[in-house]
Amino acid sequence: MTPQTSLLQWYEQNGRHELPWRLTNDPYKVYVSEIMLQQTQVKTVLERFYFPFLEAFPTLADVASCDLDDVLKKWEGLGYYTRARNLHNAARQCKGILPTNTHDLMQLSGIGRSTAHAIAAFAYREALPILDANVKRILHRYFALSERNDKKLWEYAYRLFDTKHPFEYNQAMMDVGALICLPKKPLCEQCPYEQWCKGKAEPLSYPEAKKKTIKPIRKRSIIVHQHNQKYALQQRHEKFLHGLWGFYETIEPSTAEYLGHITQHYSHFTLEADVYVTDDEITEEGFEWFDPKEIAQLSLSRADHKVVDLLKVKS
Ligand code: SF4
Repeated sequence: MTPQTSLLQWYEQNGRHELPWRLTNDPYKVYVSEIMLQQTQVKTVLERFYFPFLEAFPTLADVASCDLDDVLKKWEGLGYYTRARNLHNAARQCKGILPTNTHDLMQLSGIGRSTAHAIAAFAYREALPILDANVKRILHRYFALSERNDKKLWEYAYRLFDTKHPFEYNQAMMDVGALICLPKKPLCEQCPYEQWCKGKAEPLSYPEAKKKTIKPIRKRSIIVHQHNQKYALQQRHEKFLHGLWGFYETIEPSTAEYLGHITQHYSHFTLEADVYVTDDEITEEGFEWFDPKEIAQLSLSRADHKVVDLLKVKS
């Protein structure tokens, strides 16, 4: 028995063979699943986002020909909107047809080496390993590697790789990462790698813990300007939440009517905002007026959705 045969056997019995992106060799569908799964759990992607997205955009050419707004609207709730912007940009870069080699795939927005390998391995059946967050964790533990170093990790990825069964190997690695080699409580006694894993005595030491950083809190006032049952929103042009629509936000306190408080956790800060409503004119440029039905058609951040909820409670 080798680690590779043990993994293969485990995968045959325990793998999630029914995941829809494993039942297709359409590179576009594989690509969408890979991008969605980068920062979102399988369950959420499967139940709420993967199929509606493909229904709205059956091909990459459909993504290329639509406005960014439409893609963002379908991405709403998934978060990490850079993924959606990159997907839209990549679709236009390749004119709706994904390249068939990893070098050209990696020239597209948001496609790194691991995503390019995943598309090539799953859609084109190439013998290439992937290196997503789950695989990284397994490799760190399996080889007892403390240091976080992606370049070296790629070498280890090739070292453990099963060139005879590349498709199954990659899928199995993702499943072991998601079901067995869990971040906080790895289930080593159920792991197909148990007898070879160098780090299993102390799996939580590999890799070394990241230095804890305290997330800053941004205190803001969000002021909803209203007029004739319409509300003023602006499309964001800055990098953060680019393309999404939002209400007026300021660091100044407000004397307008208090509506409530919202908290929103982002990856690099926490937003704490008091929300106000006013009939005053809005003097800032770039705002447009929308009634509630029109707002429902816009792509909003989660924070702005919370503001909409406060408005609904008020009315
Ligand atoms: S034996 Fe434990 S630590 Fe090693 S790969 Fe398996 S689950 Fe992870």
